[in-house]
Amino acid sequence: MKTVPFLDLSAQYATIRKEIETSLEEVFNSASFVGGPFVESFEKEFAIFCDCGYAAGTSNGTSALWMTLLSLGIGPGDEVITVPNTFIATAEAITYSGARPVFVDVEERSHTMNPALLEKAITLKTKAVIPVHLFGQPADMDPIMEIARNHGLFVVEDACQAHGAQYKGKAAGSIGDAGCFSFYPGKNLGAYGEAGAVVTNNPELAEKIKILRDHGQSRKYYHKVIGWNGRMDGLQGAVLSVKLKYLPAWNEARRKNAALYSNLLMDVKEITLPTEMDYARHVYHLYAIRTHNRDDLKGYLAERGIECGIHYPVPVHLQEAYRHFGILKGTFPVAEKCAEEFLSLPMYPELTREQIGYVATELRNKLR
Ligand SMILES: *Cc1c(COP(=O)(O)O)cnc(C)c1O
Repeated sequence: MKTVPFLDLSAQYATIRKEIETSLEEVFNSASFVGGPFVESFEKEFAIFCDCGYAAGTSNGTSALWMTLLSLGIGPGDEVITVPNTFIATAEAITYSGARPVFVDVEERSHTMNPALLEKAITLKTKAVIPVHLFGQPADMDPIMEIARNHGLFVVEDACQAHGAQYKGKAAGSIGDAGCFSFYPGKNLGAYGEAGAVVTNNPELAEKIKILRDHGQSRKYYHKVIGWNGRMDGLQGAVLSVKLKYLPAWNEARRKNAALYSNLLMDVKEITLPTEMDYARHVYHLYAIRTHNRDDLKGYLAERGIECGIHYPVPVHLQEAYRHFGILKGTFPVAEKCAEEFLSLPMYPELTREQIGYVATELRNKLR
C-alpha cells in the first residue's frame, strides 16, 4: 500500500543535512547554548524577512504571545479579543497575562476573524485584539486595524502559522503592533526543538520583551522587573538561520502543492476547498478542506495509508479548560461548523505530485 504521511520532517532534513551539521558544530564549538550570537544573527535575519525593525527570539510561540501581552501592559481586569478556532495557545497567553479572552466568530470563507463582528465585542475593558492568521492565510487586517485604532486597542498578530504570508503585499506579523511566531518543528519555519519570536517596529516593545524573556535583566544579575525564562536556544537560532534561507522556496512549493490539490478536487461538490482571499498570499501551513461526514472520510483515507489531521476538533470556547466561561454551543456558529467539517490533508514542501494525485484519487473514490 502507498502511504502519504501528514508531515515528513525527515524528508526536509535530508535536503539540508550537511549545512545543519556544520552550523550545529559551530554552536557546540562556541558553547553559545542560550541566547548569544546565533540567536542574534537569526533575529536580524528574521526581522528583515518580516519587514520589521526588530525581532526577539523566544522559547516558543506561546511565550512570544504571552510576553508580548505583558510588555504591552495587559493584565488583570483587561479583555483581549481573539477567535475561537485557533490553537489553544492564543487563549492561554491571554489568560496567563491575567486578562480575559473574549471571542468573536470567524468569517465563512477565510476562517479568520470576521471584522464585521469585532466592534460589538469591544468593551471599556478591551485592550488588544489578536487576529490569528489561520493555516497560513492572514486575517483581513485593514478593517481590524481601523477598528482597533478607533478604539485605542493594540493589535498583536498571531502569525504562528503564517511565516512568509502576506496581506496586500505586507508581511504577516508586520502590520499590527507586534507579530508572534512559533518555530515548533511542524510549522513552515520549524526549529529542531522549541522556539518562537516576536517581530515589531516598536523599539521599546522589542527591548521590553528582551528584558522580560531574560529574568527581567538587561545587565546580568540586576533585575529591573520580574521577568521569566523565555529565551531561545543557540542551537535553534543556528538551525533557523539555515532554514530561513530556504523558506521562500518551501512556501512556494506548498503553494504549488495546494494548487495541484485544488485542481484535482475542484469539481468534487461534497468538499469545500480552501479559498485564497484577494488580499492574501497564503502559505498553506495547512491545506484544510471542509466536508460533511469528515470523520468517516478521515478513517477511509487512513485505511489507505493517507494520514490527515483535524485543526481543531473543538473550538476554544467549548474546550473543557474554558468551560467555566459558560459559553454555550451555538454562540460561534461558523467556528463550530468548521470544527466539525475541517480535514487537513497531507501538506509539506517535499510532497510529490504522485502523492497528491493518490490522495485526490482516494478522496474522489470515497465521495463518488
Ligand atoms: C503553534 C501555534 C501557537 C503556539 O506556538 P508554540 O511554539 O507551540 O508555543 C500559537 N498559536 C497558533 C495559531 C499556533 O499554530
